[in-house]
Amino acid sequence: MHPGEIKKEFVSILKALKSRVEIEKGFGIEIVTLARSDNRVSKDPPDSPINRNPATTKESCGVQARMSKKETRTRQLEELRQEMLTCHKCPLNESRTNLVFGTGDPAADLMFVGEAPGRDEDLQGEPFVGRAGQLLNKIIEAIGMKRNDVYIANVLKCRPPGNRNPQPEEIALCMPYLIKQIEIIKPKVLCALGTFAAQTLLDTKASVGTLRGKFHDYKGIPMMVTYHPAYLLRNPNDKARVWEDMKKVRDLLLELTHKKSQT
Ligand code: SF4
Repeated sequence: MHPGEIKKEFVSILKALKSRVEIEKGFGIEIVTLARSDNRVSKDPPDSPINRNPATTKESCGVQARMSKKETRTRQLEELRQEMLTCHKCPLNESRTNLVFGTGDPAADLMFVGEAPGRDEDLQGEPFVGRAGQLLNKIIEAIGMKRNDVYIANVLKCRPPGNRNPQPEEIALCMPYLIKQIEIIKPKVLCALGTFAAQTLLDTKASVGTLRGKFHDYKGIPMMVTYHPAYLLRNPNDKARVWEDMKKVRDLLLELTHKKSQT
């Protein structure tokens, strides 16, 4: 390689490393882990449009299949959202400003499930848009993804007044909607954020502290449990634990993507 090219390559590596350090510092992690950091987790490499040579018939078919999958899931989610707009199954329908259905890629490989909308989410009709949402965005970026690459939803779709905890009967009535969302999106990996999501999806009373750090099974989908970003804002010392959990999520996604590319 020409000395000029070597220098250019070296500068490029330094820039990438600097960017990585900035992301992890923003997330609150002081220890930089370089293991597998060269592999950005994209939801659909290597057959995504940016990584693909469209010249081959096989790959063109892959693009069409993926677009068709996305269109189908977008339509199915919209049908479900329309149904939920008129939901009166629990009293939260009367106190909410907006239904907070969910957001992100309808064909996402990774889906986050939180608890319930807060004030900002209720006003904007989108999950995780306040300070906790900004922290979740940093968590997503720290594993090499963007908010639009994943899907984000809550157990409850309407805000409990005064941000009180969801009641068991509200969860029981709203849960079928979340189950349907997961069935439509078919994520490769789920991540439950906080107590209510973890206990509801795993049908357990165990604490997040006990459940986190390993994958559980939700109807055949590997599910990581970790702390809710709102909890992390109050307990920043636990950011390191979340980072440990998210590295496992990142590595599993890379592994599943690699396996898919070999078939
Ligand atoms: S919280 Fe769920 S069950 Fe209750 S009204 Fe809203 S959508 Fe319906």
